[in-house]
Amino acid sequence: MAKTMIAAVAVVAPLPKLLDYRVPEQYSARPLIGVRFRVPLGRRSAVGFVMTQREGSAEGLKELIEPLDEQPLFPPIMGAFLLRAADYYRHPPGEVLHTALPVGLGGRGKTVAPVTEKSYHFVAGKTLPGGEKQRAILEFIRQHDQPTPLTLLREHFGAPHATLQRLTERGLLRVSVTERNRDPFTGHPPPADRPVTLNNDQCTAIGRIEAGLKTDTFTPLLLHGVTGSGKTEVYLNAVLTTLQRKKSALILVPEIGLTPQLVDRFRARLHGLDVKLAVLHSGLGDGERFDAWRAIARGDVAVVIGARSAVFAPLVNPGIIIVDEEHESSYKQSDGFRYHARDLALLRGQMQQCVVVLGSATPSSTSYQRATAGPVELLELPTRIAERPLPQVELIDLTVHRPEHSLSEPLVTALEETLARREQALLLLNRRGFAPYLLCTDCGRTWRCPNCAITLTYHRQARQLRCHYCDYHQPPIDICPDCQGTELIPDSAGTERLAEELQERFPAARIARMDRDTTTRKGAQAAIVRAMEQGDIDVLIGTQMIAKGLDFPAVTLVGILGSDATLNLPDFRAAERAFALFTQAAGRAGRGGTPGRVYIQSYATEHYALTCSAGHDYRSFFALESAGREELGYPPFGHLINLVLSSPDVKRVETAATLLAQRLLAAAEAVDVLGPAPCPLGRLRGRWRYQILLKSASRPRLRQLLDRCEPLGRALPSGVRLAVDVDPIDML
Ligand code: ADP
Ligand code: ZN
Repeated sequence: MAKTMIAAVAVVAPLPKLLDYRVPEQYSARPLIGVRFRVPLGRRSAVGFVMTQREGSAEGLKELIEPLDEQPLFPPIMGAFLLRAADYYRHPPGEVLHTALPVGLGGRGKTVAPVTEKSYHFVAGKTLPGGEKQRAILEFIRQHDQPTPLTLLREHFGAPHATLQRLTERGLLRVSVTERNRDPFTGHPPPADRPVTLNNDQCTAIGRIEAGLKTDTFTPLLLHGVTGSGKTEVYLNAVLTTLQRKKSALILVPEIGLTPQLVDRFRARLHGLDVKLAVLHSGLGDGERFDAWRAIARGDVAVVIGARSAVFAPLVNPGIIIVDEEHESSYKQSDGFRYHARDLALLRGQMQQCVVVLGSATPSSTSYQRATAGPVELLELPTRIAERPLPQVELIDLTVHRPEHSLSEPLVTALEETLARREQALLLLNRRGFAPYLLCTDCGRTWRCPNCAITLTYHRQARQLRCHYCDYHQPPIDICPDCQGTELIPDSAGTERLAEELQERFPAARIARMDRDTTTRKGAQAAIVRAMEQGDIDVLIGTQMIAKGLDFPAVTLVGILGSDATLNLPDFRAAERAFALFTQAAGRAGRGGTPGRVYIQSYATEHYALTCSAGHDYRSFFALESAGREELGYPPFGHLINLVLSSPDVKRVETAATLLAQRLLAAAEAVDVLGPAPCPLGRLRGRWRYQILLKSASRPRLRQLLDRCEPLGRALPSGVRLAVDVDPIDML
């Protein structure tokens, strides 16, 4: 029997595997991988991506219907990478493609058309026309020396339409239609570059990265540099070397809105070189994102900076992938395709044979473990730039100080001194809103979201009790319905109340707030950062947003409030999170010439996360933390897969979870099956949630167990959904 071309297609549907289709004769000669096709699926049709192709017997296979793209949307190596990712996270490949590609290319939802425009080419060797306007336009196009866009001609000649048409008809001009990029940087010139002389540690780190670049093989590195040690400068140099080697660079950041300074520094350094930079982030319009993606896939862009999903950017020939602040949990997608961008960056580096640099002042224990015992090489920047000291950190015991309001006396005194010296202060309070919850002081009742089972947050300005997950809201209560008490107080201040309290104490101080509420407007965040840089703010209050990556040289005081809430999250990573958050926040102090001071207020000043953070002692923290993890078989010493079942019907989900857990338990070999237990967030968006946690020292064993219990999801009663979370980060 004759051999036919067969395409394996990731159909955009919740199907666990690729589907094979016969490739019609007329398409079999062109490159197929990375091209979308309309395909038959049951009695309907669907969209799918060709992932692999081969020759074979196509008996019984349906045919591809028609292609949706002229050109592949990604190179074959990216296809292979996406399939590996789908397999690792046990997510349907079609859905993985849907997540990885921008809206309009993902196969569902609206399509985004590229913006095209006409350009005119001069055709030499014709007799010149008589009309004055015709001659002027022709001369302009000839002098322009390349296809002249219509927009430019409009600027110069008002309404050139009729004239252009006449010239084209007479064969003096030729028209072409080209894709126009919607460039988000138009009108925003980069700031001036500030070149520096690298110190020894920076040179060593760069030397090691460059050695990796020269080998053109997978080289995973962990850059552990204390806050203000000049990591970004290392990235900038590594990227320049990459570009010299005619390769491209991908830089991942936890959240692009939080790193305007980093983007500026790259733009400044690349300015004047013939290099295009693309920034991918959630604030982009669909059109902008679509343009950026296509430009990257064409190889027009050499440097890509982006958040989590940029790990899928279709760079043609990456030489380096940098994951800045690699410890950040925002690299993990928390719903749908639950991938971790740092781990996928490592996988991608392995498949595309390039350097991967993970950078952090507080590496995740997973990465540090890999660097001490595994395949990753450790690079260190142990001191701050120019021998600036790390800030002095003082722990304030709240059981002794018992402040009447949010601020303890030592912190108030420090603020007074800082303001008197015209320096800046940051206050971290990792909680938004006016106050987290309303409390009846007579009977102790609090108010919870009817959908999500979490406390409603009291927002004073909007006069609302509000759920931070589903946005349910109701007016605040004045009289407690249980005990008729009237002493209802919003307990434990959030950022908004802290700002008020602070303004009362320091009426002359210029106080600003940075949290989700004050940064919803596009550009609001950048405006606060700029005001800080220009010295228009004395005290900046904020949530974890202010703890990350920002470089304000005039900040000499950092206060950390509400540390206990972070320390006491119901999560085995709570200590690691707290250590990272406090160390990063502390690291904002004293980055300029003047040494910095940090005060951490807590009811638990003996906790090792606090004492190690105060001592800037990552290694001790890691040693203590890993001892605990190892004992319990938690990552990085064991591996986890979390199965979350949910349903609007609580009985159903509980029964389904119990049955599933029994099945897993019966099939498990060298895997602990924990639960089922109600999730800490027992109800979310109207669905009751139960989880079963699988834990094992061996990844293959975990995978094997899931294979054995396949089809996990399909055996569930109707209305019950199952989400598989491989290497879960957030188990609330
Ligand atoms: P990190 O990313 O480790 O927190 P940065 O790269 O932001 O540190 O560097 C902190 C500050 O020090 C920046 O303002 C940067 O311009 C400056 N800097 C970095 N390297 C040097 C150097 N070798 N000499 C002088 N200043 C430097
Ligand atoms: Zn809710």
